[in-house]
Amino acid sequence: MLNALPYPFTPKDDPWDPILSLRRHGRHRLTSVEMTLSNLCNMRCEHCAVGDTLVLAEPEKLPLDLMLRRLDEIDELKTISITGGEPTFSDRTVKEYMIPLLQYARDRGIFSQLNSNITLDYSRYEAIAPYLDVMHISFNYTSADDFHAIGFAKSGHPVPMSVASRMYERMMDNARKLSDGGLFVSAESMINFRTHRSMREIHRLIVEMGCKRHEVHPMYPSAFAADLPVISPQEMRDAVKELLDHRDPSLWMLFGTLPFYGCSDDAADRELLKRLASEPNVTVRNDPDGRNRLNVNLFTGDVFVTDFSDVPSFGNVKQDRLNDLFDRWLSHPLAKSVDCHCPAASCCGPNLLVKDMYYRDVDFGTRQAVL
Ligand code: SF4
Repeated sequence: MLNALPYPFTPKDDPWDPILSLRRHGRHRLTSVEMTLSNLCNMRCEHCAVGDTLVLAEPEKLPLDLMLRRLDEIDELKTISITGGEPTFSDRTVKEYMIPLLQYARDRGIFSQLNSNITLDYSRYEAIAPYLDVMHISFNYTSADDFHAIGFAKSGHPVPMSVASRMYERMMDNARKLSDGGLFVSAESMINFRTHRSMREIHRLIVEMGCKRHEVHPMYPSAFAADLPVISPQEMRDAVKELLDHRDPSLWMLFGTLPFYGCSDDAADRELLKRLASEPNVTVRNDPDGRNRLNVNLFTGDVFVTDFSDVPSFGNVKQDRLNDLFDRWLSHPLAKSVDCHCPAASCCGPNLLVKDMYYRDVDFGTRQAVL
């Protein structure tokens, strides 16, 4: 076995969901830290939330000790996430930062997640797997053709189909091997203009790769992907229903950043939420960004509400404690604009991008879930 989780988590107890810490403490607490460890990537996906920050050579990172000290100061820390770029792109980053951070998490008894495209050599992931809890991959494809069209849309030069095809096969092989070895591979698909009619087939391939969870999030175009078409709420609801109708019920399905809330005026939204809540092995995660999680850029030390937000950095780990920055964020007018909580609906408000896109004029502070 490559990996055996010392503290397994289940659909009933998702440590990344901010509702758990909100229930426990009666207020939002920082329990999760995401670290951007790489601005390098071998792909240039059309939807990439951080695509405009990708580079060909990156600067030195902050000393690891400083980051570990900042994590140590967070008493309530439950999870860390490592993101990029492709965080495994540089072998040096894997050895000098990633594995020590994952070991730190294991020693402290907190969960870890790595966001990777797993298209590199298997040996790289095999070395990481023993320390990792969740290998999070993006999977929005029904074929190598999709992978080619989506994964290199922003490369600026033509990438031969044969190259994309080899990477696609390697990614699927890696997912299978890691899953077979016992690693919790969670494949995320985005519902967008390209995928919303193919979710069933995408789900089938994720099951076939042996993944332990299928995560589904609607796509909200951020800076790099701002030109992509937006689908209607009805198309999004239809894609979710299609998945629920045809999913493999043995696989955990996690829906996140949905634009539907219990306080919606639209009965179709509320109906769908009810169905999601009643389906076995299906969970809806509240949005962690700025609720229980902050993002730290390991190159600059700057701290953000998420790695892809347009909200500027509001502090730096070189001089600030993360708990202090989190409190600073909670008093920010933007944080207050999405700070609502309906305990009976297990909801703690919309994601910032969702509010901006669909609910710009809505005051969530005056709304209540209709049950
Ligand atoms: S917590 Fe906010 S978004 Fe969720 S149902 Fe209540 S008012 Fe609506």
